Amino acid sequence: MLDFRSDTVTKPTEEMRKAMYEAEVGDDVYEDDITVNTLEEKLAKMLGKEAGLFVPSGTFSNQLALATHTKKGEEVIVMENSHIMIDEVGAAGMISGITIRGAKCVNGGYDMESLRHVYREDEDIHFPDTTLICMEVAHGNGSVCSIDHMKEVYDFAKEREVPVHLDGARIFNAAISLGVDASEIAKYADTISVCISKGLASPIGSILVGSKAFIARARRYRKLMGGGLRQVGVLAAPGHISLDKMIDRLKEDHDNAQYFSKEIAKFDCVEVMADRVDINMVFFKLFKDIKLEEVLLKEGILINGAENDEYRIVMHNDVDRKAVDKLLESIKKYVS
Ligand SMILES: *Cc1c(COP(=O)(O)O)cnc(C)c1O
Repeated sequence: MLDFRSDTVTKPTEEMRKAMYEAEVGDDVYEDDITVNTLEEKLAKMLGKEAGLFVPSGTFSNQLALATHTKKGEEVIVMENSHIMIDEVGAAGMISGITIRGAKCVNGGYDMESLRHVYREDEDIHFPDTTLICMEVAHGNGSVCSIDHMKEVYDFAKEREVPVHLDGARIFNAAISLGVDASEIAKYADTISVCISKGLASPIGSILVGSKAFIARARRYRKLMGGGLRQVGVLAAPGHISLDKMIDRLKEDHDNAQYFSKEIAKFDCVEVMADRVDINMVFFKLFKDIKLEEVLLKEGILINGAENDEYRIVMHNDVDRKAVDKLLESIKKYVS
């Protein structure tokens, strides 16, 4: 099967499995696991932050950041189509007892007018306190906003003495797309959540980075959330390979996405969301009365069904250019 549903489907490489087998481990609740400690330090250093914390998933990492940044009854601003708002099971209300307020999104960033509008400047007996602003780079819709925009949002938050949390699930894809070092993006956030289980091909995990004091508090909340793990070095070991060896190859996924988007745009009844092909994902609409996921399944190809009328194709380590050609051929059979 060729699987284009997500970059989360990547299987750990042989080298990763070997590293898991050989990992030096200890009890991480006692902070004794060298493999996880060094992984946390490595990512923190790469992003210019003081400390890091390994957690089971990106959702866990974002929600842990919200829990650590806020107190019950406070309000957090996010982009209205962000992962934290849409795809985290309403966890912010459940875990942190906070409300989430969405501002409009343009080009993978905030519509600044909308951000200004939803941010509560005045004190009013009716209003909750806004104590965090979240960013998402790269955005889950495939686009990457500019560094200037990240700075604009960060400055907006700092003028109001509010911290910024960055959902950087695909921060390295964003960095490659912008042609900058990831630390350049990280400058404009106080805390950052990074997924190693997507394009970087680790089987499990995200890492939350921030100041030493923040991470010390997050460590307690992680325990509260059931995320105090023990000999977790077996899971952190592939993370080292993700950070050492898998970042540069993300460019191949971006190239494959560019290639696919240009080729599929030539088909009748296809509209590519061409302004959003900044990373490894291509979104397109199909003006034909078929369920593409069902017909492709017969060809040995997995894709997700359309969401908001858009299909999404995701490139990753386990699909090469030949696989992309097979995908194009198969789609062509049914649409032209
Ligand atoms: C994948 C993703 C996450 C985290 O997802 P998990 O499946 O919980 O690891 C968070 N934010 C964005 C933008 C993502 O794409």
